[in-house]
Amino acid sequence: MFKKGLKVALASLVILSLGLAGCGNTSNTQDTSKQAANSGSAKVLKVGTDPTFAPFEFVDEKNNTTGFDVDLMKAIADDMGYTVQYENSAFDGLVTSLQAGNYDAVIAAMTITPERLESVDFSDKYLMAEQFIAVKKGSPIKTTADLKGKKIGVQSGTTGQTVVEGLGISPLKFDAIPDAMNDLLNGGVDAVVADSPVVLYFIKQNPNFNIEYVKGDFTKEYYGIAVKKGNTELKDKFNASLKKLHDSGTYNDIYKKWFNVDAPAIQ
Ligand code: GLN
Repeated sequence: MFKKGLKVALASLVILSLGLAGCGNTSNTQDTSKQAANSGSAKVLKVGTDPTFAPFEFVDEKNNTTGFDVDLMKAIADDMGYTVQYENSAFDGLVTSLQAGNYDAVIAAMTITPERLESVDFSDKYLMAEQFIAVKKGSPIKTTADLKGKKIGVQSGTTGQTVVEGLGISPLKFDAIPDAMNDLLNGGVDAVVADSPVVLYFIKQNPNFNIEYVKGDFTKEYYGIAVKKGNTELKDKFNASLKKLHDSGTYNDIYKKWFNVDAPAIQ
């Protein structure tokens, strides 16, 4: 009797916390309720993300949040004995929300940059990327230098924006990469500068859109999971789990699932 009562109480606690989380206007309640069903007594890790960034985090046809980061975060959380509850935001709001204590962590293909390190802490790097230039096939843009004088689309608040501004160009800022790509297709912008895996994935998923990419000559970037500044305990837990996932081959399995090749060394 008592046990049953406790279970019910726990279940309502989970429902209550999900309900509260659902108050955020873009919370992915459908996803979290699914996770809650499997959660037993596991603790909940609130994670902020921007699920518009395939193949790292995006919403699939079945309305599930999925992607490389989502699988990686789940593997880390499983190892730590936590379940993940996602809270969605535009990318450029994630760091501020993390600082405000709205989440425990952010996973969003977020590059570890000196500027961000002033506001938040990061786990060890878990993936390498660089900025690629997406253009329509036959575009006169063949090199980074060709971007001068052109209309360039970026996602607001990203390293794509930073590198384009570094060239002395004011880019058009979009909330999400699919919006920028749409504008490229419709002849609005001449190019979109974004993370290499995202550009490659977009081209692969949409072969009939006649988009190609230029490598550009931007520096390498490394993704990390962000935690609130000073949350060393959580950061250390993430790093310990990440290491285990590398050692066990699980990291490689996740990488292969999304990129169809073995994971390269992150250097
Ligand atoms: N890696 C880029 C950055 O950190 C883009 C991330 C994203 O748009 N999700 O700025």
